[in-house]
Amino acid sequence: MSTARKKIALSLGKEVPPVEEYKAQPGQAIYGSLVFNDAAQKQFLSKDVYKKLRATTLKGEPLDPSIADQVAQGMKEWALAHGASHYTHWFIPMTGLTAEKHDTFLEPTNEGGAIAEFDGKTLVKGEPDASSFPSGGTRATFEARGYTAWDPTSPAFIQEEVNGATLTIPTAFVSYTGEALDHKVPLLRSIEALSTQAIRLLRVFGNKTAKRVFTTMGPEQEYFLIDRKYYELRPDLIAGGRSLFGAAPYRGQELEDHYFGAIRERILAYMMDLDRELWRLGIPCKTRHNEVAPAQFEMAPIFEKSSVAADHNMIVMELLRRIALRHDLVCLLHEKPFAGINGSGKHNNWSMATDEGENLLEPGKTPHANAQFLAFLVATISAVDKYAELLRIGISGPGNDHRLGANEAPPAIMSVFLGEQLQDIVDQLEKGGASGSKSGGTMELGVSVLPPLPKDATDRNRTSPFAFTGNKFEFRAVGSTAPIYWPNTILNTIVAESIDRIATELEKGGDLNKTLAAVLQKEIKEHKRVLFNGNGYSKEWHEEAQKRGLPNLKTTVDSLKAMPKKEYKALFEKYKVLTEREYDSREEIMWERYVKILNIEANATVDIARNQILPAVLAYQAKLAHTITSTAAVVKVSQKGQTALLENVAKGGNDLFESIEILDGLIDKANEGSSLHQVAASFKDSVVPAMNKVREVADWLETMVDDELWPLPKYREMLFQY
Ligand code: ADP
Ligand code: MG
Repeated sequence: MSTARKKIALSLGKEVPPVEEYKAQPGQAIYGSLVFNDAAQKQFLSKDVYKKLRATTLKGEPLDPSIADQVAQGMKEWALAHGASHYTHWFIPMTGLTAEKHDTFLEPTNEGGAIAEFDGKTLVKGEPDASSFPSGGTRATFEARGYTAWDPTSPAFIQEEVNGATLTIPTAFVSYTGEALDHKVPLLRSIEALSTQAIRLLRVFGNKTAKRVFTTMGPEQEYFLIDRKYYELRPDLIAGGRSLFGAAPYRGQELEDHYFGAIRERILAYMMDLDRELWRLGIPCKTRHNEVAPAQFEMAPIFEKSSVAADHNMIVMELLRRIALRHDLVCLLHEKPFAGINGSGKHNNWSMATDEGENLLEPGKTPHANAQFLAFLVATISAVDKYAELLRIGISGPGNDHRLGANEAPPAIMSVFLGEQLQDIVDQLEKGGASGSKSGGTMELGVSVLPPLPKDATDRNRTSPFAFTGNKFEFRAVGSTAPIYWPNTILNTIVAESIDRIATELEKGGDLNKTLAAVLQKEIKEHKRVLFNGNGYSKEWHEEAQKRGLPNLKTTVDSLKAMPKKEYKALFEKYKVLTEREYDSREEIMWERYVKILNIEANATVDIARNQILPAVLAYQAKLAHTITSTAAVVKVSQKGQTALLENVAKGGNDLFESIEILDGLIDKANEGSSLHQVAASFKDSVVPAMNKVREVADWLETMVDDELWPLPKYREMLFQY
């Protein structure tokens, strides 16, 4: 082991001192304490203002502008009571991370003092300099103006720092011309679009009272934790969150002993800290467990309205990283931080619910007779089939390219899993009507002391990218780093279109049951090719999917190429989710990100291989050569083995050198491409294979070279340190 690595290995395991606070303040006492929630609003706002604000936050009614000043005043008082000195408009630019600029409440007075000021105007509108955020050509650099607009549907909260606190106001980020420069505006618009169409459909089924439909979302978040000291010795992890080198450890995940295993103390201390911070922020995190890969974990919240859940997931990702540092850990959110073991995803549980609390994907006990449920179900199925490419685009990115279809995540082919019961009903509907539902019954466990468990009517299928799981769909192909605004914007919009189509037919009148049977039959006939209940990881499915004509866009580049289709732009324009310019700008940004990320990874590969790995190989080579010659000078003994070893190492060193030079040349060549698309294609087709070649040689050398000389922490160290 190298000196640096040895020092780390011997210093591991120092625990953060235990915090006893939880005994004095249990979870229920701190829950939501940092949120300008219902209780805080009641305390800091007049009754009238409180009621008006609530109508906006809960029912989505337009905000009454006359109350902005009073809300601002109340929010300020509340924030000051929490020790806040600053406020910030918090938004989600298309960098995929959150952004904030802090301003203090303090305004100097003529008397040389200062008072805390915060008015309605400041609450409602902010004006950050927008010129350095990606806009995908929507805005020329000289048009630097961008506005942040308060989103009253997502509650304001306090961010506590070590020595201060900041009032944080979730906002939408738009350009001077009102175009969306962020991920949030399109999501809010897509919810609006779906709501309008869903209400039409509900009216057909006799629901006269629901005013709005919301999409709901519960994102399960996977992540890795490694010791911070190892991280500091891995420039690849620092640069891009993914290890570019590392031989497979002799122990990986084959023993299957990590999944749901007892959680180690150090990790549990971290998780406890995380849970409590999230509870303070009113983020309903519910579940924590060890995941499949060593050093991999998961947290899952209780579902919320999509726009709030999406904001909350951004905070979750931020806190996962931040709290890790307090524990001398680093949280890796990348989709594939380590080759050869599972990567991380984000299961996007999704449904639709009315403002009266009815889940529209709840089948009830006799789904065949639940006409309304069947209409929403079939609408979703049709949408996934018709716009499979768009859904694929929504989850694309260089990180997810390592994961999709790699026997740990669903393939890039979009398909829908329904399970036995619903599949049976859909089959009946295809024939013209459904008359019965297979029931789950109970499972006898054969142990008399245990009560019988009610059995679900459907089993699970973890190989499906889009699976029905009882009363919601689980979109399982989303990457772990993804802000979930974009995939959900797409999902909501495509489902809105299907609902629109079905509602239009049903609104024509006549016998509802008959028309519905005919409409659903037609939809199913047209779109049943997307239904697949088998093993999505299997080779047979790839062949079968191809026969069915389902798209299989394997990489980011493939999926982005499908993006400019006219019908896709028309869809987003029709439902007022994205204008053509906004849509095009998103495409542009996705190409740019792809190229930039690969450029960073490729350059890091060259640097690490050339400046760290090659010198270690040469040092070992010299050591061997010296050993052989100095031995020969003293004794006459066969050194066949030593010579063969030297030969191998020297040859490996030479291969490494050559592969680095080739990669270096190809990076330059790729960057000379005449268009962004061409640059991206060169990265995918020539740079990525050249990076893989460098890695292959380097990883082999890792297994040959003296452990003492190896500069990079090894997989076996980073993944099994607790
Ligand atoms: P399962 O065991 O079927 O995965 P869980 O209850 O563990 O179900 O839920 C997994 C995730 O799905 C959780 O985040 C949960 O809040 C979320 N979820 C449950 N119901 C809904 C719903 N109606 N809409 C969106 N997400 C939901
Ligand atoms: Mg999971």
